[in-house]
Amino acid sequence: MKARLPFLVFLGLLALGPALLPEFYVTLLNYIGLYSIVALGLVLLTGVGGLTSFGQAAFVGLGAYATGYLTTAYTVSPWLALLIGLAVTAVVALILGFLTLRLSGHYLPLGTIAWGLSLYFLFGNLEFLGGHTGLTGIPVLELAGFKLDTGREFYYLIWAALLGAMLATQNLLDSREGRAIRALKGGGLMAESMGVNTARTKTIIFLIAALFACISGWLYAHLQRFVNPTPFGLHIGIEYLFMAVVGGAAHVWGALVGAGLITILKQWLQDILPKIFGQSGNFEVIFFGIMLILVLQRAREGIWPWLVRLVPVRQGQRTVAEAEALPRREMPVAGTVLLEVKDARKQFGGLVANNNMNLSVKAGEVMALIGPNGAGKSTMFNCISGVDPVTSGEIRFLGERVDALTSREIARRGMGRTFQHVRLLPTMSVLENVAIGAHLRGSKGVLSASLHLERAEEARLLAEAKRQLERVGLGEHLFDEAGSLPLGQQRILEIARALCSDPCLLLLDEPAAGLRYLEKQSLAELLRKLRSEGMGILLVEHDMDFVMGLADRVVVMEFGEKISEGLPEEVQKDPVVLEAYLGGVE
Ligand code: ADP
Ligand code: MG
Repeated sequence: MKARLPFLVFLGLLALGPALLPEFYVTLLNYIGLYSIVALGLVLLTGVGGLTSFGQAAFVGLGAYATGYLTTAYTVSPWLALLIGLAVTAVVALILGFLTLRLSGHYLPLGTIAWGLSLYFLFGNLEFLGGHTGLTGIPVLELAGFKLDTGREFYYLIWAALLGAMLATQNLLDSREGRAIRALKGGGLMAESMGVNTARTKTIIFLIAALFACISGWLYAHLQRFVNPTPFGLHIGIEYLFMAVVGGAAHVWGALVGAGLITILKQWLQDILPKIFGQSGNFEVIFFGIMLILVLQRAREGIWPWLVRLVPVRQGQRTVAEAEALPRREMPVAGTVLLEVKDARKQFGGLVANNNMNLSVKAGEVMALIGPNGAGKSTMFNCISGVDPVTSGEIRFLGERVDALTSREIARRGMGRTFQHVRLLPTMSVLENVAIGAHLRGSKGVLSASLHLERAEEARLLAEAKRQLERVGLGEHLFDEAGSLPLGQQRILEIARALCSDPCLLLLDEPAAGLRYLEKQSLAELLRKLRSEGMGILLVEHDMDFVMGLADRVVVMEFGEKISEGLPEEVQKDPVVLEAYLGGVE
């Protein structure tokens, strides 16, 4: 079966729905559509971005109350009220985002509960919003002369809005900004090192999720034609999150599946459970609680991935289109000093991990930093690349002080790095992982990505990722999941990712660990070639044959300090090194 066929069947059924179904089911589908729009925001925010919000119902309320108030008190056009509602929601979301997104761990969801509750009580307590009775007499929506005064007519607007939002979200995820969003779950450190502004990216998805909720609220208000605070409370916020999680929080279609399933189940349970228990009550809540625990235990990914496996679709041939190469930075001439570390000191509490460190790297040379485990090499890398700033001392890159800059800014200036403990997104393809490295070489934003107006730039970014992958010898694995590669190749993937940023200085933390002999040889060959092109390379590596065959100069560290420096053959003979580092093996 072609991948498109199930989608076309779905669209056909959707279009026929109001003509074939009784009123009750049309209403049910309308609500499923409205809930799906909110759940879709949570797919982006929680499922993909890893930020949990219990407070989305409050944004639905903002959309509903904005139009409810403006259209009844001031007879503003509902469409203008939508724009005003979106603007108000955007301002509120930016303020709340600014306050809560800085919170980490459990504090973020707690923060969303707090503002979800506050907005809910605000709706109920403001006199001009009708208090707990709410607002009535909200006008019928008119669209191009048509009055949408029945559920059957409204149906098309709701589902068009949902499908539009799903398409925009899907487009966004499949773009440069989308990769930045997906990289958030990796913890931010890697993304920042690739030049992604993670605070900005988090704010963007928070904003989009809030705006989706607002649109759903606006539609809801004109469908119901009255609003009161009840549907915007915290328990509904929890239900939205539940829908996204059950459906498959990391998938656009998960929102629809989750909203559909929960809405239908709720309807059914509300009918059947009171009969079973012989008294009325919200028994479905208990059922949903148990179901959530089961989903979290048995099917973390939700229902959507499981549904996909049931329908055998043929994947199209995946290729990366040819595209014009991205512009490159001007490389410093060989011999230029790229990096200078002066008297650097790094302290973790009482532990001095780096002390009095001095070193330099020139364009067109391989400088090796060696030393026993715990000597402080990775710490030095983190100081240089801005991941973890020095306690004191100076770091200059291309002649300028960078020790107070963020890793993002340092990456922009042309420093690329890999991590000793590989940091990649295991379920994302090798190609897309590497394309994150090219983040700073693109500029198209969220809007053009949602509309897929950035395809030319995107093609160039992906072509660059492919080129770098072929260069490091991973050209066969473009569409494999990155996590399926052996650890050694994951390290090589990180080199391709670093190269994608078009750096002039490359920091490689144990790149050869886990590689087989032949793979090490081709890595050495690659590094020689990069050096001959004028790249400066700072290399941490334990394999002494590898280091000594490649390095132009070597710095030896022990207990956080430099104990020797020189040409490979000098260092190898240095008695201090033999004694301290090699433990007098020879
Ligand atoms: P190497 O890379 O040479 O093996 P590291 O730079 O990883 O050494 O570690 C140097 C020392 O600093 C070790 O004692 C390590 O435990 C300590 N260290 C590294 N990172 C941190 C940190 N974030 N917090 C506290 N101690 C750390
Ligand atoms: Mg290390």
